[in-house]
Amino acid sequence: MTKGLASPKTCLRSVLIEEDGIHRLARGGGRRTMNIHEYQAKEILGRYGIAVPRGRLAVSARDAAITADEFGGHVVVKAQIHAGGRGKAGGVRFAATRDEAASLYEEFLGMRLITRQTGPEGARVRRVYIEEALSIAKEYYLSLSIDRKHARIALLASAAGGGDVEEASQGAFARVLIDPCLGPTAHSMRALAVSLGLESACRRMFFGMVQKLYEVFTSCDCSLLEINPLARLSDGRLLPLDCKISFDDNALFRHSELLAYRDIEEGAPEEFEASKYGLTYVKLDGDIGCMVNGAGLAMATLDALLLRGGTSANFLDLGGGASKEAVRKAFSLIIEDRRVKVILINVLGGIVRCDVVAAGVAEAIAEASTASYALPKRHIPIVARFAGNRAGEGRSLLEAIKDDVFPIRFAETMDAAATLAAEAAGAEGRR
Ligand code: ADP
Ligand code: MG
Repeated sequence: MTKGLASPKTCLRSVLIEEDGIHRLARGGGRRTMNIHEYQAKEILGRYGIAVPRGRLAVSARDAAITADEFGGHVVVKAQIHAGGRGKAGGVRFAATRDEAASLYEEFLGMRLITRQTGPEGARVRRVYIEEALSIAKEYYLSLSIDRKHARIALLASAAGGGDVEEASQGAFARVLIDPCLGPTAHSMRALAVSLGLESACRRMFFGMVQKLYEVFTSCDCSLLEINPLARLSDGRLLPLDCKISFDDNALFRHSELLAYRDIEEGAPEEFEASKYGLTYVKLDGDIGCMVNGAGLAMATLDALLLRGGTSANFLDLGGGASKEAVRKAFSLIIEDRRVKVILINVLGGIVRCDVVAAGVAEAIAEASTASYALPKRHIPIVARFAGNRAGEGRSLLEAIKDDVFPIRFAETMDAAATLAAEAAGAEGRR
């Protein structure tokens, strides 16, 4: 790709990120991640030679009791959800006997756990992990993530680890940028260990652990690897008591072994539904439903909307060869989202033909207006912009639709379409 082609969008995006919407753009920008459970993350650490607490996923209350026996009776029962903050929300509890472990298992399974990371709707607990209870002397925080601005892996560490880390001041964290050509160096890790207040006996263990975590991070294409707490135990060991790993979705094609860790029930149900049709759908927090082909164009559409004062309710990439059925599904996913006030269709016909997209939309609209569809009638204007392969035919197909609920307007350019959609969303908001 030439520089000239790549730069305008990149520029626009970075300007927007600085001004507003960092989450929205970061999520929608093709930087999607796959999260896994704590017990799975620990399994991965173990494979890279990092010592972790003994633990097992219980399959029944009886199994929880047997596991507790195996670990000497004293265990921690841990609800497995893709969110942190479980300790404070009652999702990590100590059991002093096998019976307590069994009853906590019963209590946890199926409960809705609301932590400060789940949002008010909480997350249902479907898996329960039993771990040996260890005696902690001090809790640290340690994470690896990608610093895109400096093109480095950022290591963040703090002596204020544990459940209250979010309340810790910025000054409580040390940040080291790791040069990917060098990896973590003994010199910088020693300095970090000293700043964390680790005594000399612990420093070598710390360096060894960071080296291995770095290997996990780079070998598995992680976007985040967070250990909180990294605990110094009363017996002197340094162990990760919790671990959160997110993988870069774009690199998953080269890690088929990691796909087995995907827990589809943890994601948004719409995202799972969409994936069955080859669609990439990510819920965002705006009110304009977007249907676009290609991740780059979808990103640019979100940018264009933001520039015109609109916000998208979703990122939706129809993909390269979307069928009529996939388009129909995409459209119904958008209109089932009650927040959507306006729909913006932005299709640059290539392999995906505009008339196929239009036919899918027409079918979805026909379906929505039949009694079998459980949607209450509401007014959702559509703004469509077709360009490229069979744009004219696509437009004619949509023009033929006369539906009160979905009045359709057309735009020639992406910017014009974004302007119309943002205005319409504002107008709908005032209705
Ligand atoms: P979350 O981050 O979701 O709150 P953690 O796994 O970090 O969950 O557990 C919360 C707290 O529980 C930890 O900060 C630690 O103090 C304690 N804890 C977790 N696992 C163990 C363990 N195996 N032994 C002793 N304490 C533990
Ligand atoms: Mg934790």
